[in-house]
Amino acid sequence: QCVLACPTASLTEKESINEVWAVISDPNKHVIAQTAPSIQVTIGEIFGMPIGSFVAGKLVAALKRLGFDKVFATDVTADLTIMEEASELVERLLKHPDHLPLLSSCCPAWVKYAEHFYPEFLPHLSTTKSPHEMCGALTKTWYAKKYGIDPKNIVNVAIMPCTAKKYEAMRPEMQSDGFRNVDYVLTTRELGRMIRQVGIDFVNLPDEEYDEPFDQYSGAGMIFGATGGVLEAAVRTAHKLITGKEMPVPDFKEARGQSGLKYGKVTLGDKTITIAIAHGTGNAKRALEMYKSGEMKFDYMEVMACPGGCVGGGGQPILGSRDHKYISLSYRHNRSDTLYNVEKGKKIRRSHENPRVKQIYKEFLGHPLSEVSKKYLHTSYVERGKYPYLKA
Ligand code: SF4
Repeated sequence: QCVLACPTASLTEKESINEVWAVISDPNKHVIAQTAPSIQVTIGEIFGMPIGSFVAGKLVAALKRLGFDKVFATDVTADLTIMEEASELVERLLKHPDHLPLLSSCCPAWVKYAEHFYPEFLPHLSTTKSPHEMCGALTKTWYAKKYGIDPKNIVNVAIMPCTAKKYEAMRPEMQSDGFRNVDYVLTTRELGRMIRQVGIDFVNLPDEEYDEPFDQYSGAGMIFGATGGVLEAAVRTAHKLITGKEMPVPDFKEARGQSGLKYGKVTLGDKTITIAIAHGTGNAKRALEMYKSGEMKFDYMEVMACPGGCVGGGGQPILGSRDHKYISLSYRHNRSDTLYNVEKGKKIRRSHENPRVKQIYKEFLGHPLSEVSKKYLHTSYVERGKYPYLKA
């Protein structure tokens, strides 16, 4: 039953704190921390700050004081994920409409759920790797070469909202040139424990900046942390790819809000597509069953396993309450509202406008869906059977 409830088998949190302390204290290792977008609006809660406080600068400062050599924003590779996934969407729309719908794949819990329970949809999953895996792949290839660091000495530690990311990092597909993309995954709560272990006064830390070259990111990369954010970001870039013009208003309101299953239409040039957004695997199941029965067709769907998306992830701070359901919904609101408010104020709100994304394509990848991109930034999926625990 546990496997049914938790398709990633990640009910027990495997702590990686001791291993991370060991690599930080090894002078031969170049230890990188990368932080998922949602961590910027949740980790402050561990230190008593108001729910949804935006603390990106303090997060960077804390990680530098813990001894990481570099601190990178996973938001940069979230922008890259959008470039690749939006290109996949456009390619299917224009050249292979029979390969629609496209289903998002950056949530490993959803991917594993599909591998077990809906293998017939696996050809529809985007092959684009999730942002932290892209960051891992690029740090051990492009970054290593550019900065003259032996990739075998690079350790990539991802600070992530969930334990499912620990499982994802261990997948055999998540390697490049013989190196595991991401070496360790720490949840927000684990990072909070490390900060407490050394007595850092998180609340009073000054704001510090992410390190080059994974430092500048768009608003589109940030909203990955909330349900609907991936699809909204991808639509902004797909519009540019199809029409050559920017969406007049980047905000795509149909993608927002906490309703479990959302539908909408979006016009991309002379094509109008139907989109769907599901959060919680129960809602994904509803959407897929409706698709199969013909009750509802869609061309592109985003799925996040956690209610609210990554701001509601299983590795995020848990704050006690008598009315847990209500409060957790309000937490999700506060956290995602902050992401959307901060993103609205950003000068660059589209992934394809991110100067770092342009630089990475120019210096290494060439263009979206190039051979190099496919080698390092794309993956594959495995049909796993419905009841793996009975076969063990
Ligand atoms: Fe992890 Fe949940 Fe985000 Fe999926 S939705 S990536 S399981 S935090």
